[in-house]
Amino acid sequence: MLEDAASRRSLIEAVAQDVIDHAEELTALDQAVGDGDHGVNMKRGAEAVLADIDALAEKTLPEALKAIGMALVMKVGGASGPLYGTFFMTLGKSLPEKPNSTDTVAAFDAALQAVMARGKSHPGQKTMLDVLAPALEQLKNDPSPSEALCVAAAEAAEATIPMRAERGRASFLGERSIGHMDPGARSSSLMITKASKILEG
Ligand code: ADP
Ligand code: MG
Repeated sequence: MLEDAASRRSLIEAVAQDVIDHAEELTALDQAVGDGDHGVNMKRGAEAVLADIDALAEKTLPEALKAIGMALVMKVGGASGPLYGTFFMTLGKSLPEKPNSTDTVAAFDAALQAVMARGKSHPGQKTMLDVLAPALEQLKNDPSPSEALCVAAAEAAEATIPMRAERGRASFLGERSIGHMDPGARSSSLMITKASKILEG
């Protein structure tokens, strides 16, 4: 899997299209706790990726991930652009061309650490990290793309609802951030779930 351009194209296209298809939902979540641009931001990044899909699919997996990360930094903007950009660029830097499951877990771990450093944040603060960290734990239990991974990501996004935001714009709301799902947690859950389903085949 992912050793030929066609399979890389299928994966990248499916994840980008799913982000675009959920832009309104992500915007609505960000209207509740932020400035209402997360859907538009992520859609702009996903459209830039789709516009470059031929070139991206021809690259090796690590090079494609690095290029996706750079596109997200340039196009998504906001807080999430540099953070997702860091995530994908670090995945690309950490993965070999033909990763085994150990490589995949190690690369996901490195990417998570890089986002934490970049965001000066850690899990528990009602951010994308509250999905990315549980996803890593699930991958440590079972590194294959699986229904369990999709469930873990979705449950982790739900679990941000009662949390109080301590990073990003939502933190300005203090107690009033409680009771809403974090937009970045939702976008992380979407991307992990779609990638897992495509990779499961
Ligand atoms: P902005 O907040 O600049 O409008 P977005 O709306 O695109 O940017 O993204 C908001 C999301 O970014 C939040 O829901 C949260 O998941 C994530 N986020 C914000 N700040 C941080 C941080 N310091 N660490 C991790 N994630 C963060
Ligand atoms: Mg926003």
